[in-house]
Amino acid sequence: MGVPLLDLNAHHEPIQQEIMAALQQTFLSNAFILGQDVGKLEERIATYCRAKYGIGVTSGTDALLLSLMALGIGPGDEVITSPYSFFATAGVVSRLCAKPVFVDIDPSTYNIDPSKIECAVTPKTKAIIPVHLYGQCADMAPIMDIARRHNLSVVEDAAQAIGSEYRDGRRACSIGTVGCLSFFPSKNLGCLGDGGMVVTNDDDLAERMRILRVHGGHPKYYHKLIGGNFRLDTIQAAVLNVKLNYLDGWTKRRQENADRYRTLFRQNGLVEKGHVRLPETAYRDAGVRHHHIYNQFVLRVEQRDDLITHLKDKGIGAEIYYPIPFHLQECFRYLGYKEGDFIESERAAKETIAIPIYPELTSAQQTEVAEAIASFYV
Ligand SMILES: *Cc1c(COP(=O)(O)O)cnc(C)c1O
Repeated sequence: MGVPLLDLNAHHEPIQQEIMAALQQTFLSNAFILGQDVGKLEERIATYCRAKYGIGVTSGTDALLLSLMALGIGPGDEVITSPYSFFATAGVVSRLCAKPVFVDIDPSTYNIDPSKIECAVTPKTKAIIPVHLYGQCADMAPIMDIARRHNLSVVEDAAQAIGSEYRDGRRACSIGTVGCLSFFPSKNLGCLGDGGMVVTNDDDLAERMRILRVHGGHPKYYHKLIGGNFRLDTIQAAVLNVKLNYLDGWTKRRQENADRYRTLFRQNGLVEKGHVRLPETAYRDAGVRHHHIYNQFVLRVEQRDDLITHLKDKGIGAEIYYPIPFHLQECFRYLGYKEGDFIESERAAKETIAIPIYPELTSAQQTEVAEAIASFYV
């Protein structure tokens, strides 16, 4: 039969009428730029993240860029982040002519290893960007402690982690100085194109980001700052105001799917035999509900590349997130890193595979995925 990595038809089918009504309403209003739905969504997302302010922006990438701009990061500054993430996390640092400084990941969570951050701090360090990869919060307590002691800002890259809870129950985007969300269609809360949001508890920073979002003019046409056009479209906000009502249900189903995979891979012996290692949940024991929101379900497997070919032949969607760590990317060669500098990131890039986890995935489909993987190792 085959199973896709993501099925947006199945995802949107039950809410198609509601989405169409929202689109039509926006169309008829003509309030395409910063219309009412944007402000409404900003308040709702801030509340959802248990933070004070949300500011809708063009994409997750621009959420990161706007955050760094508002923090005044520029030439000569260093920003510490993970070498194992989506390109934008490090790309935005370089685009502002600051220097990305990489710190290896913890192999059990794939998130930045806090115990390795402090030795990367220099007098030029201005910020840390922890990434909540695959939907699980980075270990924020030690990161915030280091940031406090060295007077650094913390920009949470929560593009994959909306609503994800840290061990103390705080949610992604509410812990650091500012948090960044993406509404790219494959994220847990996706719009019908590009969209994103910055979230913060800091009054001044929120004000600065709001001004920078509209070219830095405040009042309009009077510029103390040089910003850009970073506005979220009203039409995307309207769609997101519909979809946000369903987010908790979708998260629950992703978590149930994850539990079902855990059972399947233990039953078929793949875990026991060491062919497959399941994702670890760092904060589940803390009793928080959204300990992991599973934007991706990522296995560490033996003979990864051959397994991918095998799965493609069987029509099973699988992807590598991410095949090349930042320090080995051609565009970052000028930073002077070399192979072997971040062993855990390099290993993860060679050994991991994401399999379908989307909310509408059925148990029959999951069995098919697990059997397809098992048939490779016999
Ligand atoms: C998706 C993603 C981004 C970028 O978001 P866009 O909305 O696609 O610009 C940034 N960081 C991470 C970790 C992501 O997964």
